[in-house]
Amino acid sequence: MPACAYPAGIGHDDINRQGKPLIRDGHIRPLARSCAIILSQVGQNPALPAQAEGLRYTLNGNMEPETLRAEPQGEACEPETLAALICAECGRTAHWSPATWRCACGGPLEFAAWPPFDAAAVEPSQSGLWRYRSLLPLPPQAEPVTLGEGWTPLVAGEFDGLPVLWKLEFLNPSGSYKDRGIAPLLTLLRAHGVRGVVEDSSGNAGAAVAAYAARAGMAATIFVPAHASPAKRAQISVYGANIVPVPGPRLEATRAAEGALTAEVAYASHVWQPVVLGGLRTLAWEIWEQMGCRAPDWLVAPVGQGTLLLGAQRGFRALHQAGLIECTPRLVAVQAARCAPLYAAWKLGLDHVPAVPGQPTLAEGIRIVQPVRGRQLLQAIRESDGLVLTVGEEEIRSAQAALARRGLYVEPTSAAPVAALAQLRERIVPGQTIVVPLTGSGLKGSPTDRGNEWTGQRGNKDGLP
Ligand SMILES: [Zn+2]
Repeated sequence: MPACAYPAGIGHDDINRQGKPLIRDGHIRPLARSCAIILSQVGQNPALPAQAEGLRYTLNGNMEPETLRAEPQGEACEPETLAALICAECGRTAHWSPATWRCACGGPLEFAAWPPFDAAAVEPSQSGLWRYRSLLPLPPQAEPVTLGEGWTPLVAGEFDGLPVLWKLEFLNPSGSYKDRGIAPLLTLLRAHGVRGVVEDSSGNAGAAVAAYAARAGMAATIFVPAHASPAKRAQISVYGANIVPVPGPRLEATRAAEGALTAEVAYASHVWQPVVLGGLRTLAWEIWEQMGCRAPDWLVAPVGQGTLLLGAQRGFRALHQAGLIECTPRLVAVQAARCAPLYAAWKLGLDHVPAVPGQPTLAEGIRIVQPVRGRQLLQAIRESDGLVLTVGEEEIRSAQAALARRGLYVEPTSAAPVAALAQLRERIVPGQTIVVPLTGSGLKGSPTDRGNEWTGQRGNKDGLP
């Protein structure tokens, strides 16, 4: 994926001058006219029905190699390759199953060849991210486990004079972007007969798994670090999941979850399971549609495990490979200075991410001392001509408050990339577009505590409303 030659993007003014106003009353239209034109043109291409057949076949191939052998092979398909997962660390291949979520070497697995993006396959009549149903790496017969996730608003705003497009991911059903990955994952697991799942999470992924497990009628056990916010733990419990607080570093919760796996209970890991990245590709596709079939110049996101940034990069890469965008966005990964392993590796020019001794931070959702997919993250950011930044606790706190005063109530983790915008200012060319996914709801925090700090009022002794 080439780095963009600038000026790469088209700013809002440019779009308006082309007579295709995309922003009205502060909102981006759901499907701009230019998108409809592209979709229409693609749909009229006589070559496309065959491609669409091939795509369905390809998607079968990802999960159902037996089906592949029984069906005719389309020209666009390479079954053995597309059926396989590949390890990002050693290059070994494997076939996905509910129990195959990690390479024998301990490295993370990813689809060896992602299904290509096909604009003709988008179904705007379907709810949320399921408009991309046939582009998700799922068996066609799988019944979606859905609560209406995806297709979140892209809202035009500003921050300290910079025009920013906020992608309101905290409006997903469980209150964070994690639903994009967990809905397809539980769909896949249920289709394979799984009836129980475990997950480890600082909160948001655990809440997503608990919510979708409840929706799917599956039992869920969530191992959370003892430092996870009380509101997040309460949310997981309310969904009916069995919640197990684990003292010590975040890694201990992961170890506990892995120790609980059995033949009947699958690992619904938002980090390890490759289908999660498949679901997160939809974030890029939505942004592309909502911007009028364009990619932003910059995508600025909080990074702990980095699945959001990586999934979005895979989505934009698919758009680029399909010839639908000229350049992919420059990726900016933002970490809390108190726990910044990716930043440390980036500064040292490493191709992998060693563990760091992370300290507690307000941005608990990105308090990860060693991201599982660190090598992939560094590669994706470098290929995009992106960068890694860190922000301090006070910057995070200030950005969270400033967002709230713009009507956007997000958790501190989500405010980290916003706090980093000041560092980007001198790199941003006027007219360039910046998208910041606002990843998690402010209601995930301790609202009364936060409110007290902002208003100077006292709450009750439990710090709860
Ligand atoms: Zn490996």
